[in-house]
Amino acid sequence: LTVGVPREIFPNERRVSVTPQGVSNLLKKGFSKVLVSPGAGAEASFRDEDYSKAGATLDSNPFLADIVLKVRPPMLDGGEVDALKEGSTLISFLYPGINTELVEHLKKKGVTSFGMDAIPRISRAQVFDALSSMANITGYRAVLEASNAFGRFLTGQTTAAGKIPPGKVLVIGAGVAGLSAITTAKRMGAIVRGFDTRPVAKEQVESLGAEFLTIDMAEDGSGQGGYAKEMSNAFLEAEMALFLQQSKEVDIIITTALIPGRPAPRLITKEHVEAMKPGSVIVDLAAETGGNCELTTPGEKVVYNGVTILGYTDLPSRLPTQSSTLYSNNITKFLLSIGSDGHYNIDLSDEVVRRSIVTHQHKLLWPAPQAQIT
Ligand code: NAD
Repeated sequence: LTVGVPREIFPNERRVSVTPQGVSNLLKKGFSKVLVSPGAGAEASFRDEDYSKAGATLDSNPFLADIVLKVRPPMLDGGEVDALKEGSTLISFLYPGINTELVEHLKKKGVTSFGMDAIPRISRAQVFDALSSMANITGYRAVLEASNAFGRFLTGQTTAAGKIPPGKVLVIGAGVAGLSAITTAKRMGAIVRGFDTRPVAKEQVESLGAEFLTIDMAEDGSGQGGYAKEMSNAFLEAEMALFLQQSKEVDIIITTALIPGRPAPRLITKEHVEAMKPGSVIVDLAAETGGNCELTTPGEKVVYNGVTILGYTDLPSRLPTQSSTLYSNNITKFLLSIGSDGHYNIDLSDEVVRRSIVTHQHKLLWPAPQAQIT
């Protein structure tokens, strides 16, 4: 069996799905060839000669392979779906709930497709959990972007020229990205506060040395599978009143609040931004799904009333070597868990396979019915 690693063509995408180390691992496990587009890893600092040394075959059409590994969902208008072989296998981020037209095409073509975003977040599948790998990088990079746009140190200092107070950072949403942002901001010396609707987040935030903010209302935001559920309007109002108070005090707000399958909750309004000091920064990690801040423009930097609002949606791609390395580990280990050459076998009774498979043999298999998951 052959594996293909195309160059990503989505605008501003700098990641590559498999690094030279990943190529070498696949070949060791018995895949006969790994076809890599020339220049596929260039933006992530992996040179063609590194791929060749690892045993890859440089080929301008890696879609000819039996199994294609990608980062971004294949682009319909970029010709990537047409390039896939009938009956081949595709593993990639797919977001099948949103990309329905793409999924229909994959089904028609008889492509067996797996969504990296659909892999269940259970202990056994942690090693394949690309959502967490990328969220970790996003949280880290959010603090660097904030610090870059902020006109002061984050750490406090006593210098001959005067005493400098530490910067104050508020992180809203303490999932994977939020906890990573908290860790990074703490390491940079800031005073950090965190908030989340899931009570379990309190201990996690405090264990990182940050303060967990609370409101006087007993409503548990824990939903299915460790994710959040939508809160009542009364809760959201109380939460926003807390943030209005915090807006006057903190220098940086990093928002990461998301609810699966729903638009991001709107938690920071124009009034909050107007309450912030000039020079303050907001990084809205929910920009792609509507934004936690009313003034966010996805993909853009906006300055309003002296406050910088960053709505960048490509943060993992801004750390392309790191994100490609982690993604490559996630995707190659996932492929190897399904099988190596000679033993490639799609076992639909395996929970991880069943929940991540999207199309197979001209059928749509996503989402997996609960009854089929044991
Ligand atoms: P996410 O990106 O969907 O959401 C980010 C955070 O926003 C969540 O913590 C959520 O509680 C919070 N949020 C939602 N609405 C909010 C509001 N109104 N105000 C403040 N915060 C709000 O979540 P995620 O980072 O992908 O992960 C969420 C959960 O999944 C966590 O409990 C995490 O530990 C768990 N998880 C488990 C595994 C595993 O077991 N292998 C792997 C990854 C994540």
